[in-house]
Amino acid sequence: MDFSQHNRIHFSEKLKNETFDLLVIGGGITGCGIALDAALRGMKVALIEKHDFGWGTSSRSTKLIHGGLRYLKQLELKLVHDVGRERAVVYHNAMHVVIPEKMLLPIVHNGSLGKQTSSFGLWIYDMLAGVKNSERRKMLSKHETQMAEPLLDEKKLLGGGLYYEYRTDDARLVIELAKTAFRHGATLLNYCELKSFNKNEQGKIESVVATDHISKSSFEIKAKYIVNACGPWVDLLRKEDESLKGKRLQLTKGVHIVFPFEKLPLQQAAYFDVADGRMIFAIPRNGITYVGTTDTVYNQDIDKPIATKSDVAYLLKAINEMFPTIKLTQADVVSSWAGLRPLIYEDGKSASELSRKDEIIISNSGLISIAGGKLTGYRLMAKKIVDLVAKNIGKVEGRTFGNCSTKRQCLTGGNFSTPEEAARYLSELQNEANEVGFNKDEVETLFHKYGSESKQILLKAKFYFEGKTATAPMLLAELDYCIQNENIFTAADFFIRRTGSIFFNRVQTHFELEPISQKLTNEWNLNEAELQSMLNEIESEYAQAVSFN
Ligand code: FAD
Repeated sequence: MDFSQHNRIHFSEKLKNETFDLLVIGGGITGCGIALDAALRGMKVALIEKHDFGWGTSSRSTKLIHGGLRYLKQLELKLVHDVGRERAVVYHNAMHVVIPEKMLLPIVHNGSLGKQTSSFGLWIYDMLAGVKNSERRKMLSKHETQMAEPLLDEKKLLGGGLYYEYRTDDARLVIELAKTAFRHGATLLNYCELKSFNKNEQGKIESVVATDHISKSSFEIKAKYIVNACGPWVDLLRKEDESLKGKRLQLTKGVHIVFPFEKLPLQQAAYFDVADGRMIFAIPRNGITYVGTTDTVYNQDIDKPIATKSDVAYLLKAINEMFPTIKLTQADVVSSWAGLRPLIYEDGKSASELSRKDEIIISNSGLISIAGGKLTGYRLMAKKIVDLVAKNIGKVEGRTFGNCSTKRQCLTGGNFSTPEEAARYLSELQNEANEVGFNKDEVETLFHKYGSESKQILLKAKFYFEGKTATAPMLLAELDYCIQNENIFTAADFFIRRTGSIFFNRVQTHFELEPISQKLTNEWNLNEAELQSMLNEIESEYAQAVSFN
């Protein structure tokens, strides 16, 4: 059976009729990671997500699989050790969507780190993260740093360090997790929101009431254990459970802004100091360069974090100071996104001082909540939760489950044993595509989204191309694949979370919003009002990305 909205009735029937070992609430990286781990160990697991998979913070990050160099400054050595080591695991399991990226750390006059401290810091970072020899940090002279990135300010520059991180597409990583969990037996439903808990006389949760936003119906889901993996919404569920006491979340907002590559033509991804002591990234990628992030305490609408004028001004100031010849203004920003970090509140700490460690909180009703953490460390967070649930089921029922096996579980699309094998696949794909006139870059972008599943998309694109049945054969083939295998429902699912086009290919996307919405409307048999609502959603997201209040 395909992971498609066409099978939605089947998924919701399962949710209504079966009793699950584990029900996960929230389809971000944390929830989907838990669903996969549990499914691989043989648990009967379900997941519901109130919007689309990855709709929350997990599609709005800096899109790096990184150890968090700056956490060294805060002496969070264990965090750097654990998360840093996970980079290689995440890369191995999803080579198509996790790409090694050299990062330049410029060392400047009056910066927070001098030459010695940078060299030592990067060395410790590599050691803690267990980085292989060929990828260890390299310190650069002033001249070498200037050659690596000519836009840096010669007057301020003292030298630099080059070290390895990995670039990813966060929302695609989430969908690959969801697809893999599905292929291993998990039942996952998006557009399905937890509304309330049903408890027994002892106050223990026995089931939940959920609303399906597509069929507009509510139903009960029974499960022995329930995990609240709702990211920034974790405390709302704890409130519904009447267990919101003790530790609480402190949300902080992070904004990224996007420039056309010509406006910020960096040769090299960079991580640099800002006057207030923070550090920000500037990352060139597929014809654009994005810059971020801010880190400010957030107490407004959790469903709608937006980039404001002052967020943009902060990032513009930082970038113009580091690269003084480019003189960027707000008018140069072509897109943006804003996300919320679900951090644990600590007395007297500012937004950027709050720890990124994850925490598990178990309420008297049995609700297991998990918050904090990083995209990069999702697998370890999942392991902790599933170990806990397996142990409890073992105690109560005497059933045993296998050990965690996600360390060596390739995700869908990442079906390669070595980087060389992945490179060979890409090269074959490019040769095949070349025969029918698709360009190399287009095919490489396709590969970094769908990896080992790209050939089937290319085959369909060829079919459209040869039959002259579509003006944009590749786009249509991609849409077909997402309808059949990636559970999309709306145009926003496609343009934001499956393809990222709204951020990275904005000009072309503008012309595609209407025909794609129309095609989805036909696919789901929607009426005129529903088409209009789909268009309104994507058009408002499109406008929102460049309107700063
Ligand atoms: P989310 O992704 O928010 O998922 C929670 C989900 O729960 C949401 O999709 C929501 O719709 C759903 N939900 C809520 N309520 C309900 C309900 N009642 N019923 C059903 N579903 C519900 N980490 C890195 O490793 N690398 C980075 O580069 C990085 N950069 C970052 C930059 C920024 C600006 C931010 C904010 C974070 C960054 N992080 C990064 C951290 C990382 O993105 C987060 O830790 C991670 O995405 C959190 O995932 P999550 O699944 O816990 O939460």
